[in-house]
Amino acid sequence: MYSYILEGFSWAKDIVSWSYSGDPRYHNEIRQAFSTWDNLIALDFVEVSPTVQSDIFLGFSPIDGPSGTLGNANTLFFQSSGEIISSVITFDPAESWILSNSGEAPANGTRFYPVAVHEIGHTIGLGHPEDPNVIMYAYANDVPNPTYWDIYGAQQIYGADDSGVDVGQIDQFDPLSYIASHGDLIVSFGTNEAAGSEHFWQTGLFEAGRQITFEGLEYIASYSDLMSAFGTDGRTATNHFIQDGYFEGRAVTFEALEYIASHGDLAAAFGADIKAGAAHFISTGTFEGRDTTFNGLEYIASYSDLIAAFGADTKAGATHFIFTGTLEGRDTTFNGLEYIASYADLIQAFEADPDTGAAHYLNRGLQEGRQADGFDAQQYLANYSDLRVAFGTDLDAATAHYITDGFAEGRVDEFLF
Ligand SMILES: [Zn+2]
Repeated sequence: MYSYILEGFSWAKDIVSWSYSGDPRYHNEIRQAFSTWDNLIALDFVEVSPTVQSDIFLGFSPIDGPSGTLGNANTLFFQSSGEIISSVITFDPAESWILSNSGEAPANGTRFYPVAVHEIGHTIGLGHPEDPNVIMYAYANDVPNPTYWDIYGAQQIYGADDSGVDVGQIDQFDPLSYIASHGDLIVSFGTNEAAGSEHFWQTGLFEAGRQITFEGLEYIASYSDLMSAFGTDGRTATNHFIQDGYFEGRAVTFEALEYIASHGDLAAAFGADIKAGAAHFISTGTFEGRDTTFNGLEYIASYSDLIAAFGADTKAGATHFIFTGTLEGRDTTFNGLEYIASYADLIQAFEADPDTGAAHYLNRGLQEGRQADGFDAQQYLANYSDLRVAFGTDLDAATAHYITDGFAEGRVDEFLF
């Protein structure tokens, strides 16, 4: 049932170097094989010159003549900790190796690339499962790339690559949601589910950035006309997005996890269940006048440990608050609007959007030494009676006004009189 084997050893670092010395015709496919694994797991492979000491060394050396053993990987590791010290991959030069672009039929020999992927699989800690349909099977087969179980096994050890797909999260693969997550796939495939499925398993899994992020219920919850038209029928809504919504410039703006995090009763009832949160808003929350007040990025930006752990991952921030942050009594002190309003260059570059401000802070501002306390919304309101009439005591509205209009009008937040 589980078609992967873990050898019990693994790299204890995030960046693993490799070098190859041998026939240059094979160099490119070795690079591709490393890049394939690199895009699947949270391990970075960097190539170094063969004159430099590397973690993994690859080359050709006679093993047992034609056929039999095609290659092997010898991995040195600490018995006590399982930490890998180094690994050597050897390919047998006696094989009739076939390169991917040679046009030769597999009947005439053995494809080199899948064997390289297989051997690298050994150097990261994968063994031989008893399943002829996976690339880590002990005997050469026609499997061209790592399959679900190969990836699952490797991600058990290292986790998924930041920009890749976590296959453990795919309980039921939905080709429509996959297509809807990527504009180029919408254009190429429309609602052709078979084409979407094939693209995912053969290509998308191995490309950076091909996560499945689209959730039909969140799309519905983003627009009142869609709520009336589709209710909680996420599948029909996903079809609508692929056929019309995408081309009308619609986008998903409703974040179910932020909505849940905004309401204690929903957090208790739904946890981090995105579908349940979005469905609640569509069928109940919108009629109860419930808002999303929690902002995942602002929450992360309020705590240095969360910044280190989550970066600009909105969903991770909301999930942390739902399960941990509330219990720890954490709250959001970073204000994305105030941050933008603190800097003239940001005011000119951005609209009055708290997400944009918080994302800039997390991605760049923090390193640039910027802070979010350079704007005094209270004093700004106190300075202008027309703003007090318009905004009352709403400090966020006043800050947004400063960003969109006030700054350009020459208004100020210093004490005027
Ligand atoms: Zn093997």
